[in-house]
Amino acid sequence: MQYLIDQARVFPARAAAHDVSLGAPAQSQQPRAMFISCSDARVVPALITAARPGDLFELRTYGGVIPPYDPEGPTGESRTIEYAVDELVVSDIIVCGHSYCEVVTAALHDHLTAAGIDGPGEGLTPLTGDLTAAGHWHVLAQLDALSNHPSVVHRLADRSLHLHAWFHEIETGATLQYVPRASSFLPL
Ligand SMILES: [Zn+2]
Repeated sequence: MQYLIDQARVFPARAAAHDVSLGAPAQSQQPRAMFISCSDARVVPALITAARPGDLFELRTYGGVIPPYDPEGPTGESRTIEYAVDELVVSDIIVCGHSYCEVVTAALHDHLTAAGIDGPGEGLTPLTGDLTAAGHWHVLAQLDALSNHPSVVHRLADRSLHLHAWFHEIETGATLQYVPRASSFLPL
């Protein structure tokens, strides 16, 4: 914890050293994109995209899961999506999954329950191929859920919003994107 405290204290100095502007985005935000990803500590959107303050409007959930839209009970996730789409009028939303995601691993092993999720089990190496495919499928499932949010439907209809499915490989640092024409994830 102390490392984080120390780094937060000297952030203004580090920002200045890296020529990061803090004043410009202070009054309002016009993010380049919304970035939806897993809360996993190994996924760092700002590092992956070299984003600076003001660049990314983020939504992070366990597994990057986007709940189905429910008009009866709006969730924090749906409010966040609506704000980005309707108020900030972002032009792009990136849904980014990642390798070695515990949520995907647990689902693959039928341990996913509403109450909680077991950690990754032992001896998963033989399932690497399946895990990758499951991880890719998981991202597309979230993209599908996102596509059904009313505010997103509206913006997709007039082609003012573009959705992107990404998959970040923790072990290599590479990021793939889903290419519909190829029906697969290919390097960016
Ligand atoms: Zn994850």
